[in-house]
Amino acid sequence: MKTVYYNGEIVTMCGSGDMVQAVMTEDGKILKIGTVDEMKKEEGSCTWVDLQGKAMLPGFIDPHSHFISYATSLMQADLNGAESIEEIRRRIQEFIKANDVKPGEWVKARGYDHNFLQGRRHPSMEELNEMSPDHPLVIQHQSGHVGLMNAEGLKKLGITMETAKESEGMIGRNETGLTGYLEESAFINNVQKIPMETQEQFETAMGKAQKKYLSYGITTMQEGMVMEVMLPFMKYAAETDFLKMDYVAYLDFHEREKLVPEFKNHMLVYKNHFKIGGYKVFLDGSPQSKTAWVRIPYEGTDELGYPILKNDIVENACEISVQDGVQLLAHCNGDAACQQFIDAYRRVSEKTDVKSADIRPVLVHAQLLTKDQLKEVKELHMFPSFFVGHVFYWGDIHLENLGCRRAKEISPLKTAADMQIRFSLHTDAPVTEPDQMHTVWCAVNRLTKKGVSLGAKECITAYQALRGITIDAAYQYHEEKEKGTIEPGKRADLVILDKNPLKTDLGEIRNIKVLETIKDGVSVYRHP
Ligand SMILES: [Zn+2]
Ligand SMILES: [Zn+2]
Repeated sequence: MKTVYYNGEIVTMCGSGDMVQAVMTEDGKILKIGTVDEMKKEEGSCTWVDLQGKAMLPGFIDPHSHFISYATSLMQADLNGAESIEEIRRRIQEFIKANDVKPGEWVKARGYDHNFLQGRRHPSMEELNEMSPDHPLVIQHQSGHVGLMNAEGLKKLGITMETAKESEGMIGRNETGLTGYLEESAFINNVQKIPMETQEQFETAMGKAQKKYLSYGITTMQEGMVMEVMLPFMKYAAETDFLKMDYVAYLDFHEREKLVPEFKNHMLVYKNHFKIGGYKVFLDGSPQSKTAWVRIPYEGTDELGYPILKNDIVENACEISVQDGVQLLAHCNGDAACQQFIDAYRRVSEKTDVKSADIRPVLVHAQLLTKDQLKEVKELHMFPSFFVGHVFYWGDIHLENLGCRRAKEISPLKTAADMQIRFSLHTDAPVTEPDQMHTVWCAVNRLTKKGVSLGAKECITAYQALRGITIDAAYQYHEEKEKGTIEPGKRADLVILDKNPLKTDLGEIRNIKVLETIKDGVSVYRHP
């Protein structure tokens, strides 16, 4: 059955300002674009869909996020953006009520950041106990590396003043006892002892998460790091008819020998909308917690952050990825971490034919990537995926941590665009919402939460930003021949927006609504 979409602002993303009157789709693909008259000449019956002046674009492509973590986050109280301890308490109590959590069952919460709380401190033990008097409580900090537990939670896990002394990482203590604060391995190891949700609860959460992604106009999404513990959920996605959109997963490089055999039928090919795109490594932390590995010390300190992997391991990851013909994603925020990745890939390129392997290694986040490094990135055919939302969410902290000059230069989108370097723009959900229009808004406006303009010189146009979530994100996935523009022969992955982002005031772009999402010609989301 043919469908014709007409009477809207149809932005093809084939070139700046390229629009057509109508698009015809059939069997999940785009058959034809052109004028309404041309569509009328087509033989056979057609369904005509009147766009009523709304905008149609290629479906959005998520170049980096963590779908399973996002689904997990939906089973936890969301503390993102909380500005006071009282607000945290209120949100946790609302969560307990809304989800009918029985007394004695764990309550999990995530996303608070003490930097944004009045007094810039973590809640005390007394405050934690008041938040959920009848439930063991665990709260994960926004950074993921530290967290809090109330007295009931600590008791359930057998953490006492005595065991705290012996613990790895750091368990907070003062003269009155445990403070509820747990840092690094003390937090990470203990959180793993908390009972997981059931498979059924996970599947329900995955369903909700998928709906959310679709509501943001996304038709291809990512699993940024598959670990062995996630296997049951990945199998559910890969082997059932769960997925309504394409899902590309990257395996933890260090666990690849265990994981690759599990996905023999999905290596680099979609089956049930699921494919394995390659491997993933972490090279450093994040600039807001001063763990990103930088070449120049953080403002007013002699700290440089630190590397996670040794040079030879990074080189080995590059080499094996090239050998296996799969893509390598490396989380690198600081310029020193970016350089480690570039140098490792360069060494591999000197001994193997990386050109024909064409694995398009991705610098994920690349926040402090500099102009001299962009030259190397271009020369080596590497691919930066920028996390430009940081300008908004943490820009005010970057100004303090990095100093004005460096903070203004984070996510150098304009510099990259001027050098004709393709790049994508990601949300790193659940670190931020998988809201692609918000990312576009960040890229064109570069305003912090406090409204400070941060590096206006690196602002790009709305068209350039849209490329980062459509055609250039498709290129990152080696799918530019299939997706990313509205052209005959490509998949009918489309999104309908209430306004054309190319004709909207730059400041208003984040308010644009997704009205409908279409995957392979089928409507998979409609705005209620
Ligand atoms: Zn990352
Ligand atoms: Zn990530």
